[in-house]
Amino acid sequence: MDVIILGGGCAGLALAREMSLRTHNLRVLVIEPRKNYAEDRTWCFWMAGSDGLRPASRMQWDQWRLSSGGASITHHPQLWRYHMVSSADYYADALSAIGKSGRVTLRLDTRAGTVTADNGCYRVETTAGPVRGRFIIDTRPPSLARIKAAPLAQLFSGLEVRVERDVFDPRTATLMGNMTAEGGRLSFDYILPFSPRHALIERTVFTTAPEEPATLDGPCLARVEALCGSGASIVRQERGWLPMGLPDAPSADGAVIRAGLSVGALRPSSGYAFKRIQRWASVCADSLVSSGKPSVEFADPVALRVMDQVFLRAMTHSIGGAPGDFVRIARALNGDRFARFMSDEATRADWLKVIAALPKTRYLAATVSIIRAWSQGRNAPC
Ligand SMILES: Cc1cc2nc3c(=O)[nH]c(=O)nc-3n(C[C@H](O)[C@H](O)[C@H](O)COP(=O)(O)OP(=O)(O)OC[C@H]3O[C@@H](n4cnc5c(N)ncnc54)[C@H](O)[C@@H]3O)c2cc1C
Repeated sequence: MDVIILGGGCAGLALAREMSLRTHNLRVLVIEPRKNYAEDRTWCFWMAGSDGLRPASRMQWDQWRLSSGGASITHHPQLWRYHMVSSADYYADALSAIGKSGRVTLRLDTRAGTVTADNGCYRVETTAGPVRGRFIIDTRPPSLARIKAAPLAQLFSGLEVRVERDVFDPRTATLMGNMTAEGGRLSFDYILPFSPRHALIERTVFTTAPEEPATLDGPCLARVEALCGSGASIVRQERGWLPMGLPDAPSADGAVIRAGLSVGALRPSSGYAFKRIQRWASVCADSLVSSGKPSVEFADPVALRVMDQVFLRAMTHSIGGAPGDFVRIARALNGDRFARFMSDEATRADWLKVIAALPKTRYLAATVSIIRAWSQGRNAPC
């Protein structure tokens, strides 16, 4: 094999799909433990226009809301929309592209183990026997120990529900509804209304002391009952535990590349990863096809990394201020600016507006402690 991709989830399938759509002579193998793909999540992100989005989004909203206490901000952007891609569509689209390609193979029901250098290439132990490849792209999820080492965790539990009367406003996604900060955690509702009678309702928590996301099942059900009464029928459940600001763990070797959540795919201050993963997959596939080598791991521009670290530091040191900070940011930016900011595409003017809106003392203290940590040669701990 020329390229072995460990893990056929969002990042692994994104790269496999990109490689299936390009013309080249490389042989690519994807190793994935699941036996088949089921709809296990929805991916949301912002886009201005939707040209070339594959698979097409199932839903898009042209307004979104954040609220805390008496404050409620609804954005009405001109250009940007909040899109949702169903994992069912995403997996089907990738599997169809792989199926049509003669160069990419997906091996399901197979788990990858250790990777060792072996006579100029790499040997991967798998539950179906060893495989050898020139390049290894490892998209396996971070270990629980690494997830726990992240300065902040995003936990959520969500239920897709149907009701028999009109309850939801399908024009407006609730991104951070009823934000509260108690007991060292920021909690909020995340609601994606698909129709007046159909929605995904999630309870989300940002915390420095994570627990299993299943602990949010009760609070999530309570929100469903509060919004829909007791007659809601549950279509599907999804849960997640996302590490925010995971310390770097770069590969020691340019031929073994890590990708996905374990190396910076998740934006540390927001928890969004989908678009970043698609960008990485496209760049990595271009590099493989043009130079025969994969591109290195995810690297944000320095300015973005610094700003994200400051934001994360301020949030972890004083999570009680987080609802107010998000409300200030949402007030300071119009819908298009907010979408750019959340999509790693903020302009200098957007950043200046965000900086001007945030409380100076706390953010200055966070900046000083980051600079101090960096000047002492440490990876900025948060
Ligand atoms: C429920 C949920 C909802 C999310 N919603 C959003 C969203 O709306 N917007 C957004 O931007 N981000 C979202 N995220 C965050 C992020 O986009 C996803 O977690 C995304 O799936 C990360 O991609 P990945 O490839 O790194 O990990 P995964 O998609 O989890 O893929 C990792 C793959 O590795 C496989 N694997 C595990 N062990 C092995 C092994 N030993 N050998 C081989 N393979 C192995 C797994 O089976 C899996 O298929 C969400 C995450 C979750 C969990």
